[in-house]
Amino acid sequence: MPSLPTDQLMLLRQKIPFLWASPRRHPAPETLAALRIEQGMGMRDIEDADALLCSWAPALSVLFPELGNNHGLIESPLLPLDYRTAFGDESLAGTCLIKADHALPVAGSIKARGGIYEVLAYATDLAIVHGLIRPEGDKLDLLSKAAKDLFGKHTVAVGSTGNLGLSIGIMASALGFRAVVHMSRDAKEWKKERLRKRGVVVIEHEGDYAAAVAAGRAEALKDDHSYFVDDENSRNLFLGYAVAALRLRNQLEEAEVPVSIEHPLFVYLPCGVGGAPGGITFGLKHVFGDAVRCFFAEPTASPAMLVRFLSGREPLSVYDIGLDNVTEADGLAVAQASELVYSLVRDLVDGIYTVADADLFRILAALDKHSALQIEPSSSAAFLGLPRFHDARCPQALKDEAGRATHLFWTTGGSFVPPEEHQRFLRQAATACRH
Ligand SMILES: *Cc1c(COP(=O)(O)O)cnc(C)c1O
Repeated sequence: MPSLPTDQLMLLRQKIPFLWASPRRHPAPETLAALRIEQGMGMRDIEDADALLCSWAPALSVLFPELGNNHGLIESPLLPLDYRTAFGDESLAGTCLIKADHALPVAGSIKARGGIYEVLAYATDLAIVHGLIRPEGDKLDLLSKAAKDLFGKHTVAVGSTGNLGLSIGIMASALGFRAVVHMSRDAKEWKKERLRKRGVVVIEHEGDYAAAVAAGRAEALKDDHSYFVDDENSRNLFLGYAVAALRLRNQLEEAEVPVSIEHPLFVYLPCGVGGAPGGITFGLKHVFGDAVRCFFAEPTASPAMLVRFLSGREPLSVYDIGLDNVTEADGLAVAQASELVYSLVRDLVDGIYTVADADLFRILAALDKHSALQIEPSSSAAFLGLPRFHDARCPQALKDEAGRATHLFWTTGGSFVPPEEHQRFLRQAATACRH
């Protein structure tokens, strides 16, 4: 029998949504200093990733005209939210904001940052090795025929439940790479369609996310012209996600939202394998230290990161505790968390909460109605953290802090969802409410 603490194991197995507050013992700056030494990753690496993305901006605005408005930067707006009106929760005070990554251009999800950064970093390295540009050279040169010919001899592959596949597939094929996406059984049909239309090879697997990743990894190993974006082990993905923190810092400054120990920022991040919420947490703790608190959200059927935190030395999956990893939140349908990400955020995450699928649809419908925002079920998980601070089991100190915080909900995907699919979500919400 797995050795999780009994009361939490019971809640997990009965799929009762709850908040686990981390007993995080060290101040963020101390933890970050240790990570810089032990893992060799710090603020410099985040800034370098941001600089690479900026150097590609002119080329990206040629490849994706929709980026023209933002000079080739893939960024999302910070939006105000009236939480009480949207969700009918009277108990809440404090400012609420949405970081609208569901509307990130090019890929339509949070995966645009990490996935696109990793493809661009690989393309840059490849071009330098083959003498097409110098390290500081103009990335516009990499839209040339010579570069396309070079990239066309190489494959970029990835395993995904959908959104990472979209992000990697769209970017890699736009540069001229052969792109191969291994999709798990959770992947929605429209995501596969969208990729096939762009000439991406989509390979469908009967297994779960980990099986799709393993199949992709094995395939890529057989071919020395194949580069595998390893969602379970990628530092570049992680750093690409972390760049969001630098961008958010500027947006909060512009909006004149104070972030300090007296006015903390509570951030709610839907979590799958951990890379996106982990990278963002890593970035935010560098920017705001202990004035930011980061909470991960996971479906009750797939609480992979929470199980990892609770299982101590021995990594366990959600299957090990009798859960089935079946959820409509396809972006979060992961049974086992990334060990790399866990090792990087173990002492940074402030808490993890679980959410029921029926609530995801309720939130999705409420946002559609009150804010005309179209998000996918995975994104809804962000909004379900706030009510957890009313739970009897939530530590009083955290409740008090939540009372004076600004709450930021990170919507992670949705703007590419086809209208028929969005209508299906709304019907599902209506059905869930009647029960
Ligand atoms: C992938 C994804 C996440 C979580 O990212 P991980 O890196 O898998 O933890 C959250 N929301 C959506 C919509 C996603 O596609």
